[in-house]
Amino acid sequence: MNAQEILSHLVSFPVLGGESNLPIAEWIEAYLTQHGVDFVNVPNEEGTKRSIHCRIGPAVDGGVILSGHTDVVPVEGQPWNTDPFVLTDGNDGKLYARGSCDMKGFIACCLAALPEMKAADLKKPIYFAFSYDEEIGCIAAPALAADINNHYEEKPAYAIIGEPSMMQPIVGQKGIVIYKTTLNGSAGHSSRIRTEVSAIHEASRLILWLEAKMNALIDSGHVDERFTPPHSTIHSGVFEHSGIAPNVVSDRASFYWDVRVIPMDKGAEIKAEFDEHCKQVESELQQRFPEFKIDTVEAHPDVPALDTPDHLPVVDFIKDVSGINETGTVAYAAEAGQFAEAGFQSVICGPGDIAQAHRANEFIAKEQLDKGVAFMERLVKKLSV
Ligand SMILES: [Zn+2]
Repeated sequence: MNAQEILSHLVSFPVLGGESNLPIAEWIEAYLTQHGVDFVNVPNEEGTKRSIHCRIGPAVDGGVILSGHTDVVPVEGQPWNTDPFVLTDGNDGKLYARGSCDMKGFIACCLAALPEMKAADLKKPIYFAFSYDEEIGCIAAPALAADINNHYEEKPAYAIIGEPSMMQPIVGQKGIVIYKTTLNGSAGHSSRIRTEVSAIHEASRLILWLEAKMNALIDSGHVDERFTPPHSTIHSGVFEHSGIAPNVVSDRASFYWDVRVIPMDKGAEIKAEFDEHCKQVESELQQRFPEFKIDTVEAHPDVPALDTPDHLPVVDFIKDVSGINETGTVAYAAEAGQFAEAGFQSVICGPGDIAQAHRANEFIAKEQLDKGVAFMERLVKKLSV
């Protein structure tokens, strides 16, 4: 099967982020078995989802991990012109389907190259590492990367995360974490606003504190020109449970806030400072209303940023294999930072344009799929000498 044929199978399994990925996992496993490749599963606790990893080539240090996720984002409410779960050739050089670009196209290139990888005289091994639940917070990658470290006696050197980058090597990625903060204030007649503690008013002040924190980071020089925008962002996009009537002081409010960090900033550090501030506010306002409380919980796991410096060998390696000399950075979250934390020099490089991801009529250009296949051929060649 060529990459396009494999891709048509992969996109036929919807596997929305959060859903079981077992059907697509079983299909991939059958394909591996058919080609004589042993694989290892890394299941979730309930056994409803699993990551897959395998090695092709000798058990020696210095191999390359090819990483992809098997889940996709939903299609509800999007104006699709074709069935999102049927790979459709638009006869315009594009193949349409959910996940065609993000990122089953890359997995298809990996699998299509498997016979060639098997036949080659690889001096360094290639590993496949396919995860689940990437789209709902990069949930599975840490356990997958840890299992690769534990399972193999040899140590892989590099991880290539095949998110759509038009095959450009990506050496930096912002980190992301989302928090939910809930305030418990006191209800009462609105005329008593200086006696009660309004959850809405205090929540609003906290949101402005967060905005001021973002600005303070920028002012103090926390700027990284490789990214757009070149600084960490803190933003509140949802405000909930906020009041029952215009003339009643609200006793409850909650809001979500997302933190997208450049590598020099850490979401957890910003959260710690926020907690510190909340404690002070609590102790002041508890004098007015003893049950006043502010609680903050993680609503999306802390996904670390990627920051692969130019001097690491993986950078020259990926430039060579991709044929593109210019490196870049991306603002979206991916599993690359997690693979880097597990000890692999990591970069993002895969076929397709991220601009097409997550939208109606997602597609991958055939020319990009061809480039992904050519990338695999160069990779095999490079690891065979
Ligand atoms: Zn993706």
